[in-house]
Amino acid sequence: MGEPAQARPVVAVLGGGYAGVNVAKSLDDVADVLLIEPKEAFVHNVAALRALVAPSWLPRIYLPYAGLLSHGRVIRDRAAKVDGGRVELASGEVIQADYVVLATGSAYPFPAKSDLDSTAAAHDKTLAAHAALAAAGRVLLLGAGPVGVELAGEITATWPDKDITLIDPAGDILGARFRPELKAEIRRQLSEIGVRVLLGTQLAAGPPGEPGELGPFTVRTDSGVQLTADIWFRCHGVRPVSDYLAGSLAGARQPDGRVAVAPSLQVIGQGRVFALGDVATADHPMAGAAGRQAAVVAGNIRAFITGQGELAEYEPPPPGIVVPIGPTGGAGQRGGQDELLTAEMVAELKGRDMMVDRYIELLGVPVSGPADGTDGTPG
Ligand SMILES: Cc1cc2nc3c(=O)[nH]c(=O)nc-3n(C[C@H](O)[C@H](O)[C@H](O)COP(=O)(O)OP(=O)(O)OC[C@H]3O[C@@H](n4cnc5c(N)ncnc54)[C@H](O)[C@@H]3O)c2cc1C
Repeated sequence: MGEPAQARPVVAVLGGGYAGVNVAKSLDDVADVLLIEPKEAFVHNVAALRALVAPSWLPRIYLPYAGLLSHGRVIRDRAAKVDGGRVELASGEVIQADYVVLATGSAYPFPAKSDLDSTAAAHDKTLAAHAALAAAGRVLLLGAGPVGVELAGEITATWPDKDITLIDPAGDILGARFRPELKAEIRRQLSEIGVRVLLGTQLAAGPPGEPGELGPFTVRTDSGVQLTADIWFRCHGVRPVSDYLAGSLAGARQPDGRVAVAPSLQVIGQGRVFALGDVATADHPMAGAAGRQAAVVAGNIRAFITGQGELAEYEPPPPGIVVPIGPTGGAGQRGGQDELLTAEMVAELKGRDMMVDRYIELLGVPVSGPADGTDGTPG
């Protein structure tokens, strides 16, 4: 008779987005990983705007979890109340974990992110918005941050004749963090493709109806400009999801909803509860940052489990961003580099394949037949 198998510590990972899937996969060999996620599939929302204009991308951005873990389990449920190692799920089930990883990310208005847990329902919502957008001549986008700019580029690349207006109360596009040269280059490209950009002004009252619905309307800006469009989308409003924190954990919740973490990505005041990605204070909300933080969290939990190694710290890199304007346009900046990323570099890094391959591989999803009349290679 062999030795009885040694019990592995339980790691509860809350949220199966960019942060959660990376942590869960990295610890699958040393722990009993329980990945708790209400959605039926991982959503590669970095490519969500491409899927809006080209719905043949949908199967490649909703990736089932079945192939992610070989030892651990994915539990399709929602964390409802979490205090230390006690995780109460919406179903009423209670998990007592040795380590808890808060990776519940952020909500963002559709179409950039989806609030639907069923893949079929999420596909249907995108297909309906695609049909409405295809039929609309004039499009109003509220918010000229990275999402608004990218959406304007996607729409123009697919339907060059649509009349697009981007409006933002800020004095420039993309937000405060990025270089003036980058903003100028993106503004130049938007102007070249005929996108109208109204900055330093906002609507006196919001547009009628829901975003993504077809129906002509007229609104006014606070400076008196009249805008008529057939459809509108909201392109601002990241909202961290942390409403389930209770007891000793609730104190780490900041007024903006993010969870305060130490450089080790341990939640402030906690030893065995970690937070990362959009829900944590460690960095700006980027999938790339979530991935780098996942390596730190997984390494630190592994160090606790094995008793080997020091706790590592996460250090945010200087601001960097890749801003595609359709599959072949755009620009970007990398921390520590003076030169901007050219349109060709942006197409290579993101615009052409929208980084789908790496997530198809991470999720262990078998490559299926052609999605859009191409050779069937993902991306
Ligand atoms: C259109 C668009 C394009 C983008 N492009 C880029 C890009 O090019 N590069 C880049 O670096 N970043 C990009 N981002 C930002 C990036 O998508 C986010 O930073 C990223 O989603 C953060 O990952 P996350 O795992 O922290 O959170 P999320 O991706 O939000 O995942 C959180 C997960 O937690 C689940 N969840 C929520 N509540 C609970 C609960 N109570 N219990 C259990 N699970 C829960 C959710 O269902 C979700 O699956 C883009 C964002 C958008 C919207």
